[in-house]
Amino acid sequence: MLALVILTAQICIEIDQKSELKIKALFLSFAALVLTLPMLSAKIAAADIAVIIDDMGNTHRDSQAFSLPTEVAFSILPLTRFSAKFSQRAANEKRDVMLHIPMEALSGKALGPGAITVDMNPQQIRQTLAAALSSVPDAIGVNNHMGSKLTQLTFPMQTTMSFLTERQLFFVDSRTTRFSVAENVAQANGVLSTKRNVFLDHELDPVQMDVQFQRLLSLAKKYGTAVCIAHPHPESIAYLTTALAKLSEHNVSLIPISEMVRLQELARIGSSDNNNLISLD
Ligand SMILES: [Zn+2]
Repeated sequence: MLALVILTAQICIEIDQKSELKIKALFLSFAALVLTLPMLSAKIAAADIAVIIDDMGNTHRDSQAFSLPTEVAFSILPLTRFSAKFSQRAANEKRDVMLHIPMEALSGKALGPGAITVDMNPQQIRQTLAAALSSVPDAIGVNNHMGSKLTQLTFPMQTTMSFLTERQLFFVDSRTTRFSVAENVAQANGVLSTKRNVFLDHELDPVQMDVQFQRLLSLAKKYGTAVCIAHPHPESIAYLTTALAKLSEHNVSLIPISEMVRLQELARIGSSDNNNLISLD
């Protein structure tokens, strides 16, 4: 900005050296712009959070999560008793619906129906994804259930992301391992994507959940956006009901995950444009 002011001032001096008045006016308008910019960027950089309740679908008890604000997304496990019911009910209330696709974990834990495993070939991965998706027909995005083994592998992620591209679904990396390549592969395939920043309820103690929620708010304030994943435990729902009602006190907004992936994509495009400008200097 400073370089631009100096450059423009120099040009102006060369064009009309006698006109001091013009130069002064030019500096005044730039000063006004410089003073206004922080206010504009503060507005653009408002802190937003998105919350996803995943692991939905195994029991009727999970339906308690419907009491949460409709900006909270539900990620529903495939091929369970309540998959289609929850999908339709959430879509009816204009809530974001996601497919919570089970992926093989390092722990070897049981994955439930509709899981993708490392021994599958691309055709099997695609068939599994298609069957899973048909049981959660309102899904507009996907995140992984477990997956600490599978999400480290480029090959199955590549097949998964090309499927998501065709179906125009976004992807949220649950980040069950820090070695996950899922988000990178998603972006390389043009899939709108983001990652989980905070798990709310590894521990169901309200004090521990509050530690995680405060972390979420700090990350949102620092980076503009942050994503939280929680589960349909009664304790988590009770905690979120209270915490989300007080968000405005922290000057933070709850937005749907679909909106957050779009905002982050715009920010990425913006920052790559800025990088280009910097490199041109
Ligand atoms: Zn899960």
